[in-house]
Amino acid sequence: MTKENNTHSILIRNINWVSHQQNQVTNGYVIIENGTFSKLGEGEPTPQELDRVKQVKWGKGKWLIPGFVNTHTHTGMNLQRGYSDQLPLQQWLQQKMWPFEANLDREAVAAARGLAMVEMIKSGTTTFLEMYHLFMDDFAEDIINSGMRASLMRAMIGLCSREEQDAKLKEATHFAKTWHKEANGRIHTMMAPHAPYTCPPDFIERIVEVANDLSIPVHMHLAETLKETEDHIHTYGLHPIQHLEELQLLNEVDWLFAHAVHLKEKHIEIIQNAQSNISISHNPISNLKLGSGIAPIKMMLEKGIPITLGTDSVASNNTLDMVEEMRVAALIHKGINQNPMLMDEITTFNMATINGYRALQFEQVKGIVEGSEADFLLINQNEAHLQPSIQIFSHLVFALNSHDITDVYVQGKALMENRELLTLDKEKIIQEANAHFHRLEGLLK
Ligand SMILES: [Zn+2]
Repeated sequence: MTKENNTHSILIRNINWVSHQQNQVTNGYVIIENGTFSKLGEGEPTPQELDRVKQVKWGKGKWLIPGFVNTHTHTGMNLQRGYSDQLPLQQWLQQKMWPFEANLDREAVAAARGLAMVEMIKSGTTTFLEMYHLFMDDFAEDIINSGMRASLMRAMIGLCSREEQDAKLKEATHFAKTWHKEANGRIHTMMAPHAPYTCPPDFIERIVEVANDLSIPVHMHLAETLKETEDHIHTYGLHPIQHLEELQLLNEVDWLFAHAVHLKEKHIEIIQNAQSNISISHNPISNLKLGSGIAPIKMMLEKGIPITLGTDSVASNNTLDMVEEMRVAALIHKGINQNPMLMDEITTFNMATINGYRALQFEQVKGIVEGSEADFLLINQNEAHLQPSIQIFSHLVFALNSHDITDVYVQGKALMENRELLTLDKEKIIQEANAHFHRLEGLLK
């Protein structure tokens, strides 16, 4: 059924659309025009509505939910999956990750990124944050071509000469300026000092100043391990978050901190009392795998800190599957706090979806509501592990498997239909990724 009177319109009928705002599931239809939900209706569409759209899809047996947002990853590291599984963070970086990365070239990073995008779309991630340092313009080009949505940043390590710091800052600034709001608004940029233990305070100050000038947020690893946090206290007499407050950097710009594992109540209160918007990217699986600890999410929630979820890279996870991340996040905090009421399904689902869009400042995506840009997933609800077909929010957090996701849309455009990728060549990407891994590994021998 095809009509040509609107070139960018789709109507999906007989669909169960799931609105987290209203905590409800409605049997009805949705209309997407020019990339935006123009109508969410109950029951059947009118003949006039059917007449005015170009494409009609049947959604019978499907749930329509918001896309997942991965707020911390390094997809350029995707060839390092399983490359080192049994080391703490510092040795893991210095002995395995950084030597491997020293040989990465443009083609290898492209292969890593391709592999990551295939995995992300296949597991329902519409939007991700990429913190990386090589060939960032290529990342932006790939967002244009893949149809995904991303916040991209050229990460900086400041343990180098002032000249090198200047060169990195210049490159990061140019990248942020060039690409912010490009790809029809699907690309955002941030400034990204790698971490307080890899960036001297005056370098972080200079980076924050640029972010302030450009009105974009700052993303940084924070208090991921106890050692790095204690070292900082030993060197400066202050916890890293107290240090940022002391330097008056917290109120200057909006922040998204990754990990935030080793924070006490007084540190969380500093975040709570800041004048800017500060969100946390909680990365429970990476923190567990590297033995870094478990972030104090219960306390952060009690103090109203916005929590989002990230996988970190596949070198420390080892997947980019937000469905897994969401379930681990819910279970781990119930367990360690001996409190089954924590991390209820709506709170957890929002962390994996709408909170991420907010933290990456994609305000145009508001979930499954009229007027929101149409980033969404279709889920096959006819699997045994999703029955009885009630309590859908519970199933989404505690029972969903990412293979149940059949379709992925960003800005109303299909990136996957019936589990078939439409913008990426999966077989070619997998073959290239393996070839580049073996080539790079050979260089280290
Ligand atoms: Zn990271």
